[in-house]
Amino acid sequence: MEGGDLGHGIELSADATERMMSFVEDAYPYFRSITGEGVRQTLRRASEITPVELVEVPSGTPVLDWTVPDEWIVREAYVVAPDGTRLFDVADHNLHLLGYSVPFRGTLPLDELKEHLYTDPELPDLIPNRSSFYVPRWGFCAAHRQVEALRPGAYEVVVDTELVPGSLTYGEIVVPGEEADEVLISTHVDHPSLANDNLTGIAVAAEVARTIATTRHRYTYRFVFVPSVIGAITWLARNPDVVPRVRCGLVITGLGDSGAFVYKRSRRGATLIDRVAEVVVGRSPGAELIDWYPFGYDERQYCSPGFDLAVGRLSRTLHGTFPEYHTSGDDLSFVDAGQVAAAAQMVLDVLGAVDANDTYRNLRPYGEPRLGPHGLLNRVGGGGATAAYEQALFWVLSLSDGDHDLVAIAQASGLAMATIVEAAGRLLDAGLIGPDDGAGGSVPG
Ligand code: ZN
Repeated sequence: MEGGDLGHGIELSADATERMMSFVEDAYPYFRSITGEGVRQTLRRASEITPVELVEVPSGTPVLDWTVPDEWIVREAYVVAPDGTRLFDVADHNLHLLGYSVPFRGTLPLDELKEHLYTDPELPDLIPNRSSFYVPRWGFCAAHRQVEALRPGAYEVVVDTELVPGSLTYGEIVVPGEEADEVLISTHVDHPSLANDNLTGIAVAAEVARTIATTRHRYTYRFVFVPSVIGAITWLARNPDVVPRVRCGLVITGLGDSGAFVYKRSRRGATLIDRVAEVVVGRSPGAELIDWYPFGYDERQYCSPGFDLAVGRLSRTLHGTFPEYHTSGDDLSFVDAGQVAAAAQMVLDVLGAVDANDTYRNLRPYGEPRLGPHGLLNRVGGGGATAAYEQALFWVLSLSDGDHDLVAIAQASGLAMATIVEAAGRLLDAGLIGPDDGAGGSVPG
């Protein structure tokens, strides 16, 4: 099934929003962590959008400077108050249990219990998301107001968990293109019941993969669904043959809140993906482009100086700058379907621009060619789009000197990348520009 040329602009299908949102709703309660059944369950549910291959890497496997951890199994976890009330039950909200809690059973006085309770006094009604992946600990996370109201007495604690040799699970979708060179799209899969920070990235990645599979495209598109940090490190450690083929990429996350787009540049800062983001993301209302810094999501791993990949990050409101971040406030009501759909379209537009970008050479560079006789002025449609297209013809002819690629022309002209791509396609068909193979340009006798 061919749905057109990715490089010439692909519209998200009409049922995409419904597909992505029903995934977000279904996967919200799944019990995710950096390992365990919740990740598998989430990836299997994402496979209903488009098939995701699950890869299992055994606990104890050395990966770069790290080791794949034991798998975390949670059966039940709660506290019983002196009056018999059950508190902080993980069955009620999976943020209640400190991530990677070690097993514990016992009865404790309130003061001792409180050493194991995590709250955020500044957001007294929300449950914070906390984990202790690499230091063995048990604990519960709860609304500060609830913990403040606890009365002294004996509290019974049940943390029925297990840390056992198992595996780390990540997911992968490869959509082969005409070339072996790849574009990498990465999103994290380890956050428990957090809707925006986790599930929107997975939904958009799967839907974009599904869409690209129906198009003609140049690059091979690889989508990876990894637990934060350790998952990206594991993927990088296991794919030394793929890494050199990665032309550029994007980490996607937090795409469903009400904010405008934020693009974070790769470490190198002026790579293909950064330049594309400038002309595609940067022109959407309110968008912000920010420079690299070594914190955040898995761009930290892809852009570490040894790999130094051209990977940027697309999100909406920056993590850590809104109160719902990493709390029970990041629930389904925090995610807007229209924002998720617009984000999937934005990712498609960015990848389309990457796919279409090329450097051409004007084959009739002496004076302007007459466009009418070359059949270039018969564009279907009219009005502003046609005016922009006609301007784009002149911009492409003028700057196709072997030094400017189409992104540079979109940048210089202020015209939409899609318009520049359309004009370049028509000029190529008319034989007025050619691939920049060093052979272009004929000097008149
Ligand atoms: Zn997060």
